[in-house]
Amino acid sequence: MRLLRSTDLALRVLMRLAVEDGPTPTTREVANDMDVPYTHLAKVVAELQHLGLLVARRGRGGGLALTEKGRTASVGAVVRTFEGCGDVVECEGANPCPLNSACRLRGALRRAQEAFFATLDPLTVADMVAPPTGPLLLEIGRPGV
Ligand code: SF4
Repeated sequence: MRLLRSTDLALRVLMRLAVEDGPTPTTREVANDMDVPYTHLAKVVAELQHLGLLVARRGRGGGLALTEKGRTASVGAVVRTFEGCGDVVECEGANPCPLNSACRLRGALRRAQEAFFATLDPLTVADMVAPPTGPLLLEIGRPGV
């Protein structure tokens, strides 16, 4: 199963903010650190803010900060939110599969997808930044590194 780019970015932003120990970084600074397009990251940040997982303060001294809800957020919940609950294969749509009405594979794939999410459910953002990941994230965020 391949995650959407926005799902991976969402988790990376949360992890990056979870280790921040200096001034709150701006969306642009985080985008630069992560080497991703600003516009793409800004959409992800807006969604994370809407979910209450981070706050974005404007103006001087502003920037992005993780909330307690973001720190303790389930990785599985974040992935479910960004991936949605669609099928992993497109069975319907413009050219529906002829097996669509009686397909055992479709059910098996749904169960496999749920098992994938369930594996991530007990893990939190804070868990994901334990060493060695957290210290490396901090280094990457440092100017000149
Ligand atoms: S074979 Fe089954 S899972 Fe695959 S596209 Fe057709 S209905 Fe969906």
